[in-house]
Amino acid sequence: MIHRARALVKLAAIMRRRKWELAAWEVFEAGKNYLEAEADVAEAIDFCEYYARQAMDLDDRLETYPWPGEENTVTLQPLGVGVVIPPWNFLLAILVGTTVGPVVAGNTVIVKPSPKTPIIAGLFLQIVEEAGIPAGVINLLTGEDAVLGDALVDDPRTRFINFTGSVGTGMRIYERASKVQPGQRFLKKVFMEMGGKDALIVDETADLDAAADAAVAAAFGFQGQKCSAMSRLIAVDEIHDALVERIVNRAQQLTVGHAADDADVAAVIDGVQHAKILGFIERAKTTSTLLLGGNAGAPEGWFVEPTVFTDVDPDSELAQEEVFGPVVAVLRARDFDHALELANGTKYALTGGIFSRLRDRIERTREEFRVGNLYINRKITGSLVGVQPFGGFDMSGTNAKAGGPDYVRLFMEAKTVTERF
Ligand code: NAD
Repeated sequence: MIHRARALVKLAAIMRRRKWELAAWEVFEAGKNYLEAEADVAEAIDFCEYYARQAMDLDDRLETYPWPGEENTVTLQPLGVGVVIPPWNFLLAILVGTTVGPVVAGNTVIVKPSPKTPIIAGLFLQIVEEAGIPAGVINLLTGEDAVLGDALVDDPRTRFINFTGSVGTGMRIYERASKVQPGQRFLKKVFMEMGGKDALIVDETADLDAAADAAVAAAFGFQGQKCSAMSRLIAVDEIHDALVERIVNRAQQLTVGHAADDADVAAVIDGVQHAKILGFIERAKTTSTLLLGGNAGAPEGWFVEPTVFTDVDPDSELAQEEVFGPVVAVLRARDFDHALELANGTKYALTGGIFSRLRDRIERTREEFRVGNLYINRKITGSLVGVQPFGGFDMSGTNAKAGGPDYVRLFMEAKTVTERF
């Protein structure tokens, strides 16, 4: 364990040294602005440091009660060969975190990055070599999902799958992985971290300026292409109009343009996603009120203006499905109770938040808002490794809690040995 942990610390050191270079590639490959690109590289570094230290604690025997005449030991061992399938949106952080977690536990992995962001994956593999991690431990396989996806998931040698991505892909992988293939002698373990339809509640006691700042940052940062992005704003009737006005004013100040120029809102990832987002917007126009944006926007390319819809029906597509773009659905709540009910009204349960000054409401939200990551009086994006372990409930995933204290343990199994003497 000590050798693998040290290798992770070395990986972190090399990435820290090459931080600006890696961040620049993120601007180029994924359209992150400077802040988002730097944060993603920083998170990748944090994952290495954090899992390295966590692994050291797992090296010991687990504690058991003494029993007369016997020696009992419980030790942890790795699972075997895994497949790591990360998304393109946190192109370095999630790729690195979901790789080094299992690897520090002693597993070997095939990393299949998103075909949208293979360059950063290639650079990471260079760093893996430089850190002296032996060939064959972390293996990169790039290519189209139609060719690689099912083949890797179905293979009888795949012992576990560490997936982060959309609910559609996740459900497909979950189902296929459950089938025991000819020659397969174990059940595959799957870790599925999936999408969100994340809501921020703002009640009539809230600091509306602070709430508007948080909403705009969480909705439009990296063009809303975050699993944690605020895609639903639930405003209590009394302050609905005043809050929406503040949000629109702030969103109008955002610059739309090239990531290389450090625009606030840069291009979305590709033409497919661009068309998908505009499709959501077109359909929403028929049922809701378009207050801001709604266009492809200038300059030419895969840009989408920051978009805000009000009068959104809580059961509509826009209020229920993940758009993964800079589009906010504002829902009007009669009162706080109604707001909480609306907040819990989707199949997802990833991130959420509330702005309120009332202690009893904050406490009720703590208990009753069903999300893996709840934020009170701050924005609902930007969790830190080891500070806010990340992962959702329900259709948002299996709650692996990336950057959490139990993460590395997920990729190990325990062996109990009893010797009588
Ligand atoms: P996606 O589902 O399209 O792809 C995710 C990964 O799966 C990619 O590597 C992709 O190449 C691969 N893939 C696609 N089809 C496959 C198949 N048939 N078999 C095997 N692998 C296949 O998702 P995406 O667009 O890359 O990422 C965005 C999604 O990820 C959003 O839904 C977002 O909410 C989610 N996400 C979740 C978290 C979390 O921690 N819960 C974090 C980041 C992103």
